[in-house]
Amino acid sequence: MSSDSYDLIVIGAGPGGYVCAIRAAQLGMKVACVEKRDSLGGTCLNVGCIPSKALLSTSEKFESAKHDYEGMGIKTGGVELDLPGMMTFKDSVVEANTKGIEFLFKKNKIDWLKGAGKIKGAGTVEVDGKDYAAKNIVIATGSDVASLPGIEIDEKRVVSSTGALVLDKVPETMIVIGGGVIGLEMGSVWARLGAKVTVVEFLDQILPGMDGEVRKEANKIFAKQGIEFKLSTKVTSVTPDKDGVDLTLEPAAGGDVEKMQAEIVLVAVGRRPYTDSLGLEEAGVEMDERGRVKTDHGFKTNVDGIYAIGDVIAGPMLAHKAEEEGVVLAEMLAGQSGHIDYNLIPGVVYTHPEVANIGQTEEQLKEAGVEYKAGKFPFMANGRARAMNCTDGFVKILADAKTDRVLGCHIIGPEAGTLIAEIAAFMEFGGTAEDIARTCHPHPTLEEVLKESALAVHGRQIHM
Ligand code: FAD
Ligand code: NAD
Repeated sequence: MSSDSYDLIVIGAGPGGYVCAIRAAQLGMKVACVEKRDSLGGTCLNVGCIPSKALLSTSEKFESAKHDYEGMGIKTGGVELDLPGMMTFKDSVVEANTKGIEFLFKKNKIDWLKGAGKIKGAGTVEVDGKDYAAKNIVIATGSDVASLPGIEIDEKRVVSSTGALVLDKVPETMIVIGGGVIGLEMGSVWARLGAKVTVVEFLDQILPGMDGEVRKEANKIFAKQGIEFKLSTKVTSVTPDKDGVDLTLEPAAGGDVEKMQAEIVLVAVGRRPYTDSLGLEEAGVEMDERGRVKTDHGFKTNVDGIYAIGDVIAGPMLAHKAEEEGVVLAEMLAGQSGHIDYNLIPGVVYTHPEVANIGQTEEQLKEAGVEYKAGKFPFMANGRARAMNCTDGFVKILADAKTDRVLGCHIIGPEAGTLIAEIAAFMEFGGTAEDIARTCHPHPTLEEVLKESALAVHGRQIHM
């Protein structure tokens, strides 16, 4: 094989692409990964999961030190924000992670082809004017920020999540368009640092797609934290001027127009699959009506030897979903078999408290006519949550009424994102509520709330 010829070329080094490249290399393939950014790791490591979690973590510590410590007998003597220092910390976390992927590429002998990749047809990828040959090509080009018609994101006053990660001062006021995951995570960061945050959501409740009770509870808790919500409302215009940004809002169902002003507007209305300048049309690769690359269950496009994974195909736009797809595809290309149960991909919102879910919601089960039992238990009745001074929220487990098999779990509460992993493992093995209830959980832990809610499915909870 010549130096410009590979078993596999992956385009895009996000969690889908870099994981696929590493697994393929582990399985003995000669692999290259094309990435046009100056650093590896994609949206997730550079402008997504990792920097947002660094700011969520530091802003939560700041907020706690300001408001919670005194009630727990800790005198801080005045807490001040050093925003440049916080941003430097966040940047250092990003750099450590992206450099880590460079190290992994070297360790696995994966060539990083620096530049924008273009598919010239099955078997050939062009990078910066040079052609590379590959037996197989994987499109892992991810997603980009979506906006609304007539709203221009300048990343200064009207920002996307990317701009919201690098603001150089805390705005007095911030209007967030969209009460989804990014709106709540980035809205929480800036609210904790001192901005007056208003979230405008088109639907009648925040966090679409999540369990109804969790959505209501989340709204209540975040409102208590000082975030204002305007539900069933759409933003019809956004006009930056020298003093800030003027907005017009309208009830979703139509009605009187309201005018608002904010120093910063964050547009968080979703992301779009990214296939710009990739040459898909010329290569004859089919897309769906939403601009996503069309694939079959084996991630194959309609063109032999071209595959796609991650945010650029259908399914939830989540890093761990992209990673699972990367691993399974690499194994399939090596002649192994693989399968992903898309019902078992957990979702987590890293607010305080966190929100996490897996499987079906009550609304989905009702709509499908499935008979189920629900067991719910509040963190308020858990000793560890009290000791941590984090008692907001609950766990809800949904189990099949006849078989007791767990069909879904919905959590709002401390460390929900960590707790959901236990339920994911039970569900992966077809576990029942009784299985969770009979498993000895250490005391005192937040995990006991999982056990109690499993017991509650059968009306046997002990501590309430
Ligand atoms: P991406 O990570 O988007 O990577 C694609 C890469 O391909 C990019 O680096 C791009 O530069 C490159 N590329 C594109 N076209 C070309 C080309 N022609 N040539 C060369 N390179 C190209 N998900 C979670 O699971 N948990 C979270 O906490 C979370 N937080 C998020 C926070 C924010 C603010 C955002 C924006 C997203 C977050 N996500 C989170 C979503 C997560 O980042 C994505 O689901 C994930 O990054 C998708 O991975 P991917 O590999 O499909 O694509
Ligand atoms: P989202 O789909 O989660 O939320 C967008 C929200 O905007 C929805 O509630 C929608 O109803 C609302 N909306 C749409 N048009 C509107 C309008 N005109 N006016 C008011 N509201 C409007 O999208 P997002 O928050 O931008 O996140 C994008 C993607 O990134 C998501 O798919 C998410 O999975 C991923 N992400 C994940 C995490 C995480 O896992 N913790 C964090 C950030 C982002």
